Amino acid sequence: MNAAGIDIGGTNIRAVLTDESGTLLGFRKISTPRTSREIVDAIGGLVAGFASRAAGGCAVSVLGVGCAGALDRGRGSIITSPNIPALAGFPIARALEKKLGIRVFIENDATAAVAGEQWKGNGGRFSNWLMITLGTGIGGGAVINGGIYTGRSGAALEIGHMSIDHGGRRCPCGNTGCLERYASATALVHDTRRRLGNFPGSSLRTRIKGTVLTAQMIYEEARSGDELALQSINELSRWLGIGITNLVNIFNPEAVIFGGGLSKAGRFILPVVRNTVEERALKGLRKGVRFLVTKNEEKTPSLGAAKIALDHSIKGA
Ligand SMILES: [Zn+2]
Repeated sequence: MNAAGIDIGGTNIRAVLTDESGTLLGFRKISTPRTSREIVDAIGGLVAGFASRAAGGCAVSVLGVGCAGALDRGRGSIITSPNIPALAGFPIARALEKKLGIRVFIENDATAAVAGEQWKGNGGRFSNWLMITLGTGIGGGAVINGGIYTGRSGAALEIGHMSIDHGGRRCPCGNTGCLERYASATALVHDTRRRLGNFPGSSLRTRIKGTVLTAQMIYEEARSGDELALQSINELSRWLGIGITNLVNIFNPEAVIFGGGLSKAGRFILPVVRNTVEERALKGLRKGVRFLVTKNEEKTPSLGAAKIALDHSIKGA
């Protein structure tokens, strides 16, 4: 049995085709369209593309869809979706089932990423571990005694909204001092832009002529040794380390695995996070925690969505 897995992000939709053993049979990435109708059509096109390429023409038996936000799994709809407002309240699973004629299961995107990492990534060798996705915002997931913890509505581990500074930066969620206001790709761009004036010699000043600053640029310039880029990533990593210290004290994990676009900068971020946790976490809990980067930042969440759909399908749920 083959499954397609989709990860709907605010910027891109990523799709994989896989068999039951997790062998990757196809991968596609497209920009996320604006309306729910266009999103359904785009996903339909991706799945049809997989099916037509495979021999027999009916290679996709089931579809898993990962999406940010709180879900109503029973109705197959997304209750709230901060990054893709068009999908709020939309019964996406039913719309896709009607279009494709196969079973469709939806899951929170962070849970899908954990499932993918547990199946084919670095998570498989641990029973208690945390996943932290560093992107536009910060998401997370937890594996506890080998099982993925999802919470009541599938939205557990919203660690981006853990407050680490009581009088700190305002967050659109209504709280202040939320971790993602300091340690996401968005925060990195914001803080680096704010400091540009203090670094007249920074290579980033040349990079942004006629274009907008991105986290990718900051990472690239950090690799070339730019002081501003390095300082910004260092500060982000300190904040992140404080947030992760709280998580280490709560969950007592064997490992913390980083995903999301910004995890590419892991070689700068991880040593600082490790030091911060060493300095601050409880003695009995900080020892031996492994800090790792996901095996495949681009494909793991959609692979996990496919895995969840395969599991449901095999169980006959
Ligand atoms: Zn918040």
